[in-house]
Amino acid sequence: MSKSVENVASCLCGSVKVHVANIDPKFSVCHCASCRKWGGGPLFMAQCGTDVKFEGEDAVKEYDSSSWASRGFCSNCGTHLFSRFKNAGSYNIPVGLFPNTEGLVMSMQYFSDLRPDYYCFSNETPEMTEAEIKAHFASEV
Ligand SMILES: [Zn+2]
Ligand SMILES: [Zn+2]
Repeated sequence: MSKSVENVASCLCGSVKVHVANIDPKFSVCHCASCRKWGGGPLFMAQCGTDVKFEGEDAVKEYDSSSWASRGFCSNCGTHLFSRFKNAGSYNIPVGLFPNTEGLVMSMQYFSDLRPDYYCFSNETPEMTEAEIKAHFASEV
């Protein structure tokens, strides 16, 4: 399921605009330590596939965060723009960057066992633990 209307995300300072052809409205939340350190809290990310184009690309800096993914941000204002899977070339983009949030539904929580005790969501969603995620992605390779 994806919307046919093009979505344009932008950073805080407006230097970078991200044109996304297909956004999966069923977004996920990640509770892992990397995401919480990167953003200061759990990370809300929508799958946006590979059809993603940048305006103001000069301001985009990419941090090589793991062997399988990198994280991009605006070098002017620090807004987190995406995480990109190196093999597939597909992007996950923080839902907070999109002006139109109509139809977005929290649909999955990753690394639920790494979620700290100081928060929890009342949204009822499926969850995956670190072990479940490792098993799931191992079977896909
Ligand atoms: Zn910016
Ligand atoms: Zn994470």
